Amino acid sequence: MMRQAIASKATSAVRQRELRYFDNNATTRVAPEVIEAMLPFLRDYWGNPSSVYQFGKQIAGHVEKARAKVAAFVNADPKEIVFTSCGTESNNSAIHSALVLQPDKRHVVTTAVEHSANINFCQFLEKRGYEVTFLPVEPDGSLDLHLLDKSIRKDTAIVSVMWANNETGVIFPVDEVAAICRSHEVLCHTDAVQAAGKLNVDVKALGVDFLSLSAHKLYAPKGIGMLYVRQRTKYQPYIIGGHQERSRRGGTENVASIVAFGRAAELAVSNLDDQNARVQSLRNRMEETILKTIPDTVRNGAKDARLPNTSSIAFDFVEAEALLMQLDQKDICASSGSACTTGSLEPSHVLTAMGLSPMRARGCVRFSLGIYNTDDEVDYLLKNLPSIVARLRSISPPSSVHPDNGTNETETAHKRHKERTGTALAHKNR
Ligand code: PLP
Repeated sequence: MMRQAIASKATSAVRQRELRYFDNNATTRVAPEVIEAMLPFLRDYWGNPSSVYQFGKQIAGHVEKARAKVAAFVNADPKEIVFTSCGTESNNSAIHSALVLQPDKRHVVTTAVEHSANINFCQFLEKRGYEVTFLPVEPDGSLDLHLLDKSIRKDTAIVSVMWANNETGVIFPVDEVAAICRSHEVLCHTDAVQAAGKLNVDVKALGVDFLSLSAHKLYAPKGIGMLYVRQRTKYQPYIIGGHQERSRRGGTENVASIVAFGRAAELAVSNLDDQNARVQSLRNRMEETILKTIPDTVRNGAKDARLPNTSSIAFDFVEAEALLMQLDQKDICASSGSACTTGSLEPSHVLTAMGLSPMRARGCVRFSLGIYNTDDEVDYLLKNLPSIVARLRSISPPSSVHPDNGTNETETAHKRHKERTGTALAHKNR
């Protein structure tokens, strides 16, 4: 039994070493420093922070220290930080609070390219009689701020716009979105789950009322997130129960993970610029080489207004799922979009909203790099990818229709999408 356990430990260590992980937007490896910081709170300090005796109070003190670190990471006051279970809960909570506290306002503005953590909640709201405007995006994934401004109505309760897209890395100008919201006196929420750790997060400079983060994108464990609630913004808890989190989120605190989040935030603050510069140069080398050496490949999304780590590439005449399986055979991890939609046969809603034809969207792969990626790993990917793509193309008969149709189907599809959304917008704004 003992020998088996040792063998399985050894195998998993070898596997870790062999893995070339290019899926850091799905989740990140927990940093050794973070594991170190959280272990005492599983092993020794396991009490309940709400308990009145010293053992509990001591633990509550560590929760507050972690809160201060997370607050410093986003330039907030610790009182403005509510720990949640994940980014999804944070997004749902912000929108829910805005609607419950303004019962006469039954309209939400968001975008067509949000994460399912937001899109699916908004669709759920639509089924319950709320109105939601899903703003279209441009072919490069950017947002038309004039359209956003026009879509805000007297009965708009909240505008919820992601900061950086999880599939393409495209960045929205959230500070400008927040300024537009302020001019209409409408609440503004941003899903900063992918931005954190890759861009400097400063809630004061952004001017938002709510901001969501998730620790597992920041080299901390899964199951812990936070919602920034700007001081004096009225807030209605989403999870109703005990008086934890100053009565803003019921449920005994996930102490070890909160401590881990604090440590990850601290590490991110001290290393952000250097690490991002290194990751960006790796990403650029990878992307430029793929686009140059593999025919019929296209980058999705704006080149510059983009996260430093993300690259979404269309491999025409290839099914992304087949490509991912072949990469997996070589211990290379990447994905065809959001981890939450993997396995779905539908083409990505983000890419189709940008006007990609469903055929091209089905051939798109996202490579998202992180602080543990190395030059050697990128070399390994670049060595293996061209032959895999060529093999897949040779076994699937070439389609008579080009994914972009040679007649710029991208533009046509995007025009159609915009027309549909524009008509819907005009209809709703009547
Ligand atoms: N928002 C974005 C942009 C994301 O990428 C994700 C996760 O991939 C989420 C929200 C959901 O975060 P969580 O997995 O912590 O619920």
